[in-house]
Amino acid sequence: MVLTSPERAIDFCCAANMEKTKIGRRFEGKVAIVTASTQGIGFGIAERLGLEGAFVVISSRKQKNVDVAVEKLKAKGIEVLGVVCHVSNAQQRKTLISKTIEKYGKIDVVVSNAAVNPSVVAILQTQESVLDKLWEINVKAAILILQDAAPHLQKGSSVIFISSIAGYQPRSPLVMYGVTKTALLGLTKALASEMAPHTRVNCVAPGYVPTYFAELLMKDGDARKAIEEKTLLNKLGTTEDMAAATAFLASDDASYITGETIVVAGGIPSRL
Ligand code: NAP
Repeated sequence: MVLTSPERAIDFCCAANMEKTKIGRRFEGKVAIVTASTQGIGFGIAERLGLEGAFVVISSRKQKNVDVAVEKLKAKGIEVLGVVCHVSNAQQRKTLISKTIEKYGKIDVVVSNAAVNPSVVAILQTQESVLDKLWEINVKAAILILQDAAPHLQKGSSVIFISSIAGYQPRSPLVMYGVTKTALLGLTKALASEMAPHTRVNCVAPGYVPTYFAELLMKDGDARKAIEEKTLLNKLGTTEDMAAATAFLASDDASYITGETIVVAGGIPSRL
């Protein structure tokens, strides 16, 4: 187990731009579960929380991906537990929580990050089975994981949902996926009220981040450039950008913030 002093700050080398940023140790002694976290944004969040001192529990559908991600995090000195968990599998959700409790005894942070976008057709053409899958993974599983985690959440704990800029303006080709992400904005408000005052519930709405998930949208240079031009900052987001916002909301720096969503989208319009 890696335990370091709270005052110790470490150098975090941002893989995307190789700029060196000083980060603190806001999660010393805290236990953080991040779903769908063996690559992309979820992995970035797990890495950030771990570098800030958290014991992180990562998971995804495939054992091999879990094993590889665990090794990568351990190589950075992070205390990590890896568990296979397809978020729509009830038994695997229960195992995720029970193994966390077995090893660390409590839960301080839950980041609900799993999502699918199985279809790019119009809503009125979307098959019922696809509608079910979108609801099941993007919304229902997020609720069910919290039902399992709730008895173990500590006073001062924090839940973060990963929504999307598409939740504010659900449009083709992300239209029905976008609607499920809108639902997470409502879920954030509803659970913030239900879980107060002991647990804060907030949300991060990423813009466009070049991960495997977003490959379809950025498959050629022109598509990527068009997306960059939609932003005010004229660039795509990074997994580190999303991790920084998530870590802020999960930390005591945000101790008076609940029921809110931070849009991390380079200035793409979301709301007034
Ligand atoms: P990604 O790079 O494709 O990573 C997806 C991760 O989820 C992998 O670790 C994958 O591992 C795991 N996974 C997939 N299905 C799962 C399931 N049913 N249960 C458990 N784990 C599962 O995706 P990403 O871009 O980081 O997306 C993460 C979140 O950010 C999603 O909620 C997405 O909607 C949101 N988001 C992304 C963008 C973007 O531009 N990338 C923008 C807005 C919002 P296995 O294959 O081993 O399961």
